[in-house]
Amino acid sequence: MTDKNKRLLAYTRTYGCRANVSDGEKINGILAEMGYGFTGGPENADLILLNTCAVRENAETRAFGNIGALVHFKRVNPDLIIAVCGCMVQQGHIAEKLRATFPFVDLIFGTGAVHKLPELLTEVISEKKRVTDITACSGGIVEGLPVKRGSALKADIPVMFGCDNFCSYCVVPYVRGRERSRLPADIIKEARELINGGVKEIALLGQNVNSYGKEHGATFAGLLREAEKINGDFRVTYMTSHPKDLSPELIDAVAESGKISRHLHLPVQSGSDRILSLMNRGYSAKQYEDIISFAREKIPGLSVTTDIIVGFPGETRADFEETLSLIRKIGFDSAYTFIYSKREGTKAVRLPDPVTAAEKSARFRELLGVLEETGGKAYGRYIGKTLRVLCEGEGRTGKRGYTGKSGEGVIVDFDSPADVTGEFVNVRIEEALKWALLGKAQTIRE
Ligand code: SAH
Ligand code: SF4
Repeated sequence: MTDKNKRLLAYTRTYGCRANVSDGEKINGILAEMGYGFTGGPENADLILLNTCAVRENAETRAFGNIGALVHFKRVNPDLIIAVCGCMVQQGHIAEKLRATFPFVDLIFGTGAVHKLPELLTEVISEKKRVTDITACSGGIVEGLPVKRGSALKADIPVMFGCDNFCSYCVVPYVRGRERSRLPADIIKEARELINGGVKEIALLGQNVNSYGKEHGATFAGLLREAEKINGDFRVTYMTSHPKDLSPELIDAVAESGKISRHLHLPVQSGSDRILSLMNRGYSAKQYEDIISFAREKIPGLSVTTDIIVGFPGETRADFEETLSLIRKIGFDSAYTFIYSKREGTKAVRLPDPVTAAEKSARFRELLGVLEETGGKAYGRYIGKTLRVLCEGEGRTGKRGYTGKSGEGVIVDFDSPADVTGEFVNVRIEEALKWALLGKAQTIRE
């Protein structure tokens, strides 16, 4: 027998990138507004919701496994509602496969239907039927949705949705629709409310922030300048930038600012012009190097990170070596690395791909080795310097008491005589590890 007065509990999980995490925060906000409480595990949930990722095949394979495992909870509690949403199900063939394979999944909705969650859930519950909504994800922007944020200290603010770049390997434009930007006033209002509420770091997010605002006659550099005018002691970060659209105005805005993070995440993907052209990236390796030199000249101490794909269809040993040589020349602080994954519906699927999986894995390991060597050198330059760190809590390395991130986006573990969680502190760097810096909080103010 069910207790009618019992508060319904939701168990939600989000996979993938920060755009998906941001959708997950909206989904949780909507559920909280509908009266749901939240539970940390699926066992006692009345609603289980998985927000999926589609960027690589292994994310999808894992999601199918995770969804399959949920049948057990439905057997124990037949009233349980199971919902699957996100990028993966926005693909028609996947939504169909899910419906056919997992009859116990009650609700499937795509990235364009997040705001409709209350009506979709009501339909499932009151009509006791399975519901699918993967209608267009290119529609307008829905402002004012409730957001249940994962952190009181740091907040992600999407500034735009979708992507028009159609890099030949990438599924994002198909599962998140055409590029569309929020109005600057809506973004600044959200940022101001967050900062007034105690948030110390805001991240402005988009698939290609450098093309933000075209439809409103706005620019990303302009938006950053507006954001930093908000009163208060806070930091602004942003991602992702695209080399073909990065403007000198953006570099100037960062260089002239005391609040915008001195960190540029600029995905290069490959160091071979032949592969970059097949990827439809719109720049050459030389142009990429020139942008970095220019940015480093203007912004002393700039940290540069990147994304790299290994084993794109037809990548030869020579192409791969060009990637290694570019990494050595640039000296990235760190990089996200991926083995190319075939995505149905994208252009690269049709390209010949003669390189074996074993060879691609070997190149991947070699790439990690070079990144470790160059990243180690890059981190070494911080030793002896004082960085401004936003303290997030207890140390991550086990070697120092507290942890946080510097304005360069680097993890810093440090000792401090007082608990400085939630505050900005100046930390003198003493040692560099592979993925973090170690140091000591300074008592002297800037
Ligand atoms: N909009 C951002 C991020 C997109 S997805 C950008 O343009 O940089 C994040 C990263 O996933 C990409 O930069 C790319 O390196 C990687 N990626 C995307 N599709 C992929 C695929 N099919 N196989 C392997 N890696 C992929
Ligand atoms: Fe994908 Fe390219 Fe758009 Fe990034 S810019 S989301 S890699 S299509």
